[in-house]
Amino acid sequence: MTGAAIEATGLGMKYRRRNGGWALRDCSFRLPTGRICALVGPNGAGKSTLLALAAGFLRPVEGTLRILGSAPAEARSRMAFVAQDKPLYPQLTVAETLWAGAELNPATWDRATAERVIGDLPRDAAVRTLSGGQRTRLALALALGKRAELLLLDEPMADLDPLVRHQLMGVLMAEAAEHATTIVMSSHILTELEGACDYLLLVDGGRVRLGGETEDVLGAHALLTGPVQDLAPHTVVESRTTGRGLTALVRREGPVDEAAWEIAEPSLEELLLAHLRSPEAPALLTPSAAHGETVAREAVAAR
Ligand code: ADP
Repeated sequence: MTGAAIEATGLGMKYRRRNGGWALRDCSFRLPTGRICALVGPNGAGKSTLLALAAGFLRPVEGTLRILGSAPAEARSRMAFVAQDKPLYPQLTVAETLWAGAELNPATWDRATAERVIGDLPRDAAVRTLSGGQRTRLALALALGKRAELLLLDEPMADLDPLVRHQLMGVLMAEAAEHATTIVMSSHILTELEGACDYLLLVDGGRVRLGGETEDVLGAHALLTGPVQDLAPHTVVESRTTGRGLTALVRREGPVDEAAWEIAEPSLEELLLAHLRSPEAPALLTPSAAHGETVAREAVAAR
């Protein structure tokens, strides 16, 4: 098994220790290194909290988090975190910001990469005069120039137009492929990251609902359509009666009666929406995403 970029064990976080609600609760999962992971979930799901914990900006109330095998604070130099508000110094120019990036990361600074990400942004422009998209570009340049092993990006593409988003995604993917960087990118637009990401973490209500290789998570489900009938023995995520019959999203655990059902693989959007509409559906982590303890617990439960 490859090393884990992120390993969470019983992770829990509340912002006010007394009376506050849980922003994250009972999260146990692992993200193998070298993956491009989409961290998806609705607003308030806990995505930013998870990223800030991973970056070592917050301390968990419960559980533990290991980043690249170390405590988050010890892994700081090996990761880069681009927070939602892209904190940069407004009074510095683009060139000065790059210079600061080089000074802060003398051992690893990759100037050529940073310059490539910045593209034709005027080097003498003050950060405060940049548009949202230009700021994103600069923040990503700093993160990539640092040559971090793990990039944590909180809604990095939110204020970009589709053209720039596409272009920056391309740059990000090329850099990640070249250096085998692990990337975690959050978005509340569930399908925004489709195509770019090979790994998926769906967080909702502070819990991890789905985790694993996007293909495997999709392949672990089937969309059944047929006349109204008993859905047993399938594990049902969501079922709906339509005018002509029944449509159900189920776990693909055993054989499906091909005479009774039309069987299809759900799209990513169908899968995510079905889970969000059905908070009681059991969580699914593929073996690579399941934390050792989770696997052991499920094995015991299945006995
Ligand atoms: P997401 O990034 O998925 O939108 P967040 O991690 O920002 O979700 O929020 C998870 C929960 O924690 C929400 O209920 C939110 O209101 C709460 N929360 C987030 N940040 C704070 C904060 N600084 N103080 C108090 N509650 C917070």
